[in-house]
Amino acid sequence: MQLPIDEVDPVAVAIYKAYQRRALKEWRQSNRLGASILGKDCVRELWYSHHWVTKWVPGGQLKRLFDTGHIEEDRVIADLRAAGYTVWETDPDSGFLNEETGEIEYAQWMSEFCGKHAVSYADGKVKGHPHCPDKIMALEIKSANKKQFDKYEKDGLRKWKPTYYSQCQLAMHGLGLDRCLFVVICKDDERYRTERVRYDMGFCEELLRKAAVIIGSPDPPPGISEDPSNFGCKFCDQQPVCQLGTQPLVNCRTCVHSRPVHDSGWHCELAELRGCASAEIPLDVQGTGCTEHVYIPALVGLKVAGAEAGAADRGCFIDYELSSGTLVRNGYGGLSSAKFWAHAFGGR
Ligand code: SF4
Ligand code: SF4
Repeated sequence: MQLPIDEVDPVAVAIYKAYQRRALKEWRQSNRLGASILGKDCVRELWYSHHWVTKWVPGGQLKRLFDTGHIEEDRVIADLRAAGYTVWETDPDSGFLNEETGEIEYAQWMSEFCGKHAVSYADGKVKGHPHCPDKIMALEIKSANKKQFDKYEKDGLRKWKPTYYSQCQLAMHGLGLDRCLFVVICKDDERYRTERVRYDMGFCEELLRKAAVIIGSPDPPPGISEDPSNFGCKFCDQQPVCQLGTQPLVNCRTCVHSRPVHDSGWHCELAELRGCASAEIPLDVQGTGCTEHVYIPALVGLKVAGAEAGAADRGCFIDYELSSGTLVRNGYGGLSSAKFWAHAFGGR
């Protein structure tokens, strides 16, 4: 019988836990739609992600694997420079003082879209390609295992990883460049492949139209399937809530009173109604919400009592009708969202 890892190797367990703590911190900070996720097919998945419906945090081992990919980026940039290319890996206009070290640091190349609710980061800008030595291109670096690398060689970037293709495209769109040098390195045998990706304005406009619809929609849009065995759904981080009845997280973004506003902000309509000095919800508050949280009805999926009369019109409470005919209230005068879910769905 194989022993659980914490009985065999407590050191490894402690290390993985430290990685997971970092992953959790990063999840809390990832509050916008990234260029990569925008390349996914299912708009419902993107909406769930933007509304923090599910918290998906990689385990410690997987987080370490992701970090290894970032270390590989630095090596690739060093390789490019050694090969004679000029690489600008950070934006020289982004200088800020790191208060811990007292040093001026520079941030990644970043472009913001759709009221700053969508964002693209590029791994750098690069110049020196033999086919266009003076042209400055965006730079996107990935590493892949042998199986994935071979797939890339066979299928080409767009078919292999639409998410990476979207990253390249939005990086060019945001930085005003018309080529992106896509570099991939095989982790198993150090094979390099690169390609110059051509800017596709129509593709970017379509991607940003999709982002705008997701950001502007108060309710989750239809997904790619209702069937949990659908290939795309089986690997979706949002499947537990979308198809399997798991409770959506209680936070401001799943609350009927919140809405995204300009500058990547979120406002609380309840605070607006009450004439509070500011309706802006600080990022650290968004993650927990308040005691007046009321679920967005489409996340609950039950019949809203009196819906015809506009009862679900974003008030301080919403009454739902259970299949037994009983009414259950979420919000003011009824149950808090946490208790409501357990009551309405019997803790499923
Ligand atoms: S489970 Fe399927 S339909 Fe639901 S969000 Fe994920 S991909 Fe979309
Ligand atoms: S009512 Fe509370 S949980 Fe809802 S958006 Fe406002 S602050 Fe957030």
